[in-house]
Amino acid sequence: MKFLVFIEQRDGKIRKASLEALSLAARLAGGPVSAVIAGKAIGEAAKELGKFGAAKVYVADRDDLALYSNRGYGGALQAAREKESPDAVLIAATSMGKDLAPRFAAKNDAGVLADVMDLRVEGDRLVGVRPVYSGKARATVEAASGLRVATTRPNVFPAEKNDGAAEPAIEALDLGALEIRARVTGITASGGKELDVTEADVVVSGGRGIKGPEGWPIIRDLVDAMGSGAALGASRAVVDAGWIDHQYQVGQTGKVVSPTLYVACGISGAIQHLAGMGTSKVIVAINKDADAPIFKVATYGVVADLFPFVPELAKAVRAIKSE
Ligand SMILES: Cc1cc2nc3c(=O)[nH]c(=O)nc-3n(C[C@H](O)[C@H](O)[C@H](O)COP(=O)(O)OP(=O)(O)OC[C@H]3O[C@@H](n4cnc5c(N)ncnc54)[C@H](O)[C@@H]3O)c2cc1C
Repeated sequence: MKFLVFIEQRDGKIRKASLEALSLAARLAGGPVSAVIAGKAIGEAAKELGKFGAAKVYVADRDDLALYSNRGYGGALQAAREKESPDAVLIAATSMGKDLAPRFAAKNDAGVLADVMDLRVEGDRLVGVRPVYSGKARATVEAASGLRVATTRPNVFPAEKNDGAAEPAIEALDLGALEIRARVTGITASGGKELDVTEADVVVSGGRGIKGPEGWPIIRDLVDAMGSGAALGASRAVVDAGWIDHQYQVGQTGKVVSPTLYVACGISGAIQHLAGMGTSKVIVAINKDADAPIFKVATYGVVADLFPFVPELAKAVRAIKSE
């Protein structure tokens, strides 16, 4: 099956979720695949894609693509599709990917296997597994004919880097005049330089059990102890209470994360929260109620008051890391 992967970048830096999609495509194809990237000043980023499984990269590099627009980035994807004639297109299921994929699929009369956690090729069928009912069940979905489009859940598939891989062939896309109707005029980062929960390898989240915004320092201290790949997360209850900004919210109406380690501190484990973190590889729950539903999904459960426990855990993590 011939794959084309849409690569998302921000400020010229490629999103990890796109590298995961690219590696997945190369694994499924059994060799290098093609990719397409849109943006401004992205030439260097495009060359890096060879290390993650791209043999050819279509590049749309122009001023009016500096920020995302469905028509602009979708135009680049469409142009690459027409040149490459792939059987399948993969797009990371980020906020951008979730906006881009349905429009692209509709335009090409294709179905979308959305937010897949597993993807395989069976003959000429592309078969995916995706969470349904807020993560309570998994559905197997397939695209049997025509163009197959799938969006891949971030942090589920490994991004495999091969430093010795050849640089990909670069082909510039000429998109002509773009009719961009809705344009992002700017992006304001609300969290300073903090790592976004969706990009983190370790997420430490706080829920209503932290009692109030004054509870954050001990949770943040555990994030710090975990190191530079860790990020802070939160349940909706604490976001709704105004204890922290919505960008930290994990769950059905927040962000979907799938880190190597998810530490839930004072979070009950409502189904809507599990929808956002249930695919984490290892889940540690700290809750003083032994019957809290979070323990049903936890790999390790700690029945404890988080206020004395979390600082001790942070101390132990630092001690292990300094060994
Ligand atoms: C349509 C819809 C969408 C939703 N989307 C989301 C979403 O995206 N994300 C989300 O998180 N929720 C979402 N919710 C809300 C969800 O149903 C829960 O209300 C919410 O997740 C509860 O947050 P919590 O676990 O922090 O609070 P609670 O349910 O109040 O749990 C607090 C937990 O802390 C424990 N605790 C208390 N004190 C301590 C202590 N000292 N030490 C240790 N443990 C302690 C308690 O035992 C309890 O289990 C949604 C709800 C709806 C209806």
